[in-house]
Amino acid sequence: AFRRSARIASLEISEIVQITERAASLRAEGADIVALSTGEPDFPTPPHVVEAAHQAALAGRTKYPATLGTPELRDLIASQNGVGRANVIVSTGAKQVLANAMLASLDPGDEVVMPAPYWTSYSDIVALAGGNPVVVPCTMEAGFRITPERLDAAITPRTRWVMLNSPSNPTGAIYSRDELRALAGVLKRHPHVMVLVDEIYDHLSFTDFASMREVVPELSDRMLIVNGVSKAYAMTGWRIGWGIGPTDMIAALGAVQGQITSGASSISQAAAVAALSGPQELLAERLAILRDRRDLVVSRLNAMPGITCPVPDGAFYVFPDVTGAMAAKGLATCAEFCTSLLETQGLALVPGRAFGLPGHLRLSFAYSQANLEAGLDRLERFLSRPP
Ligand code: PLP
Repeated sequence: AFRRSARIASLEISEIVQITERAASLRAEGADIVALSTGEPDFPTPPHVVEAAHQAALAGRTKYPATLGTPELRDLIASQNGVGRANVIVSTGAKQVLANAMLASLDPGDEVVMPAPYWTSYSDIVALAGGNPVVVPCTMEAGFRITPERLDAAITPRTRWVMLNSPSNPTGAIYSRDELRALAGVLKRHPHVMVLVDEIYDHLSFTDFASMREVVPELSDRMLIVNGVSKAYAMTGWRIGWGIGPTDMIAALGAVQGQITSGASSISQAAAVAALSGPQELLAERLAILRDRRDLVVSRLNAMPGITCPVPDGAFYVFPDVTGAMAAKGLATCAEFCTSLLETQGLALVPGRAFGLPGHLRLSFAYSQANLEAGLDRLERFLSRPP
């Protein structure tokens, strides 16, 4: 009979997926559901990108691609980032870059420091690779960002990585140049620690964004930058992400990938070339739409009793504190708050607990204005009812 390995014993289906699936099954039963729970742009993939994939398939680019990515896409990413081809790996989504990196570097008991709130998959991927996530809670008052002092205190001789995400899912927080320099100062005192910076939302910044690679190039021999086309180019289903790092690190990630998936889809890589090298005006147009949605969501949330919502600097999420609203509703946890909201109002949001910081919830504003308004109306109604 089937028995789960120790490696995955504590692994559960992501809370985000659970909520989204519960919402989908309620909808299938005929309930009227508004889901603001998924981190996926509602925009279509740009038509010229779809056309490039079509042409690649017709041209017979349907064979196994090179494990680390097609030369065309790797060279394009390399030239856009001022590195060489050997510094770039293309994977099946940014998620696979993260998984490759952890599998390639962690031995049992190795530690990975991650500020919370973090993207849910970080802790699960680390655990899957046999490592121990070391979670450093970073409150709303601290701007959801880790300070140099707290980073320093979290590092031990077993620390292999610090995992940063800027702009952040779920908070939208961005590390400024000065903050990145200050964190790098700590890392310089701990030469055994590598740094992974997930910059997948870099194009979705409402304020100035700086890549850690530009700000502290002197750390590039132990830095992995993660990025991809999913969010900026509305290409979540194409599954293309990449990592930029030192050649020995990239070769190790490639060794893992070669035994798990081989190279990422050749058709999708051709599409990614078109996305990265084609017209970029769409990014600014879509960012303006997202900014309007952000402003709508933040102002309406802050007008609700018991909710405090900071303005996110990037990405397409808000992560308000709802402890006041929880108390008013007599609900002890943010998970119960989200369950009750879904069951009574048909609104799907994700509890902060899923990101390692309870007392909050995450609302994605990558949805149409009408959907957002409908969701916010439901939340307002929920709060206006007695417990
Ligand atoms: N990194 C972060 C912070 C994300 O929020 C996500 C998707 O939600 C990913 C990585 C995964 O990206 P991909 O679709 O390229 O696997």
